[in-house]
Amino acid sequence: MAQEDVFKKLVSHCKEYGFVFPSSDIYDGLGAVYDYGQMGVELKNNIKKYWWDSMVLLHENIVGIDSAIFMHPTIWKASGHVDAFNDPLIDNKDSKKRYRADVLIEDQLAKYDDKINKEVAKAAKRFGEAFDEAQFRSTNGRVLEHQAKRDALHERFAKALNDNNLEELRQIIVDEEIACPISGTKNWTEVRQFNLMFSTEMGSTADGSMKIYLRPETAQGIFVNYLNVKTGRMKVPFGIAQIGKAFRNEIVARQFIFRMREFEQMEMQFFVRPGSELEYFKKWKEIRLKWHKALGFGDDHYRFHDHDKLAHYANAATDIEFLMPFGFKEVEGIHSRTNFDLSQHEKFSGKSIKYFDPELNESYTPYVIETSIGVDRMFLSIMSAAYCEEQLENGESRVVLKLPAALAPVKLAVMPLVKKDGLPEKAREIIDNLKFHFHCQYDEKDSIGKRYRRQDAIGTPYCVTVDHQTLEDNCVTLRNRDTMEQERVAISELNNIIADRVSITSLLKTIQ
Ligand code: ATP
Repeated sequence: MAQEDVFKKLVSHCKEYGFVFPSSDIYDGLGAVYDYGQMGVELKNNIKKYWWDSMVLLHENIVGIDSAIFMHPTIWKASGHVDAFNDPLIDNKDSKKRYRADVLIEDQLAKYDDKINKEVAKAAKRFGEAFDEAQFRSTNGRVLEHQAKRDALHERFAKALNDNNLEELRQIIVDEEIACPISGTKNWTEVRQFNLMFSTEMGSTADGSMKIYLRPETAQGIFVNYLNVKTGRMKVPFGIAQIGKAFRNEIVARQFIFRMREFEQMEMQFFVRPGSELEYFKKWKEIRLKWHKALGFGDDHYRFHDHDKLAHYANAATDIEFLMPFGFKEVEGIHSRTNFDLSQHEKFSGKSIKYFDPELNESYTPYVIETSIGVDRMFLSIMSAAYCEEQLENGESRVVLKLPAALAPVKLAVMPLVKKDGLPEKAREIIDNLKFHFHCQYDEKDSIGKRYRRQDAIGTPYCVTVDHQTLEDNCVTLRNRDTMEQERVAISELNNIIADRVSITSLLKTIQ
């Protein structure tokens, strides 16, 4: 099935099974804003817990905060967001559709990559085991031709971005003959900058109200609390973690919850000695990749993408990209932000933000490594990797979400075989004992087969069936979601067997 179709199915699956709904659905939705349903909120909370615990429990020198969304407007002046938090936008005059100029060019680069990969795949099929990919890539005429075009485009694009050259960005779009996917024409406007921050008013107008912004990132809430937290006996190097909502008036909001106008971030700022930042940048790249890989979707689903254009505050930056149904896409950014933010807040607030390092016997403004991941993008990457349509041996098919057990919304479904003979009461008794340890669901409606399918569709890793035999031997049938294998186990053993396999603690142990 084409990846696009898989994605469409995933979106409707998310709605049907209570994972994600369009916001304000009964009013036909609101552009790029979404709500999480009864299953989605559980998955989202589990993702957040996995991240939070991996930061705050596994690192003695990382603490958390929860700062307000409303902040003093000068913060956004100091951080550079008022003047420079812009995206270059371009309109197609025929379709009247608006695009990000940089994204159009990135898509064009991806097209060259696709062409190269297709040549490689064709050759690999033709030559079989004897295929030497490295040699093919460095000698095949067509591959070399595509690669040369790609490299030239890449170089020109990086330079245009670095120089903030909007005319050149437009010229690249023209020269590459990039057409609007809707109208199919190449009739483009100029490229303009567009600020992504939402603003509102605080206070009554009679007293003179103040224009404030909805934060476009959670990081600034950490920077402006650095002094407060440091006072609590934190010694450099140390980190501050935060999970919270962020808002961006995205020009092109598309691909479901990949790019939203209201979303949630999990950010950690790690404060280090000046000069040691690149060493910590490398360390945090490794730690974060390990966190992702522990989910078990396969190492080939991840790659680093180093930035061509460094933000004005950064001296190194990379993205962790995940293989989504629409290609490799950023889920997390890791940035070496120098001492830019703290220095700016020092300048704009007039307060000293220096750290006195007792070992060096000197004061400095710490440098910062940031890890920044979107909860919603992480959610989408997990759902898209977990969604499977399987053909079964008996000719039936099933849709199953192969979610990592520790993140699954429901861990165990308990089902009486029939709705009588004391089986429902026995099933309830099992849930009453286990509900303190993990999320259980009771289900007695329809045939067992249908009930299994329902649980597969929401990713429940285990199902327990209570039958007449259970009343005699206190044993139940335990069914595994992925293998569909069933085993007979004692009720008294259920907690031992399952708790460990579905706990976030077990997942954390694999990365510590
Ligand atoms: P992009 O290039 O995709 O716009 P970005 O580089 O601007 O992303 P950052 O500012 O580094 O993103 O934000 C860190 C993380 O926050 C991203 O890796 C992503 O997971 C998440 N994120 C950013 N913007 C959005 C959005 N509009 N919707 C959902 N998640 C987002």
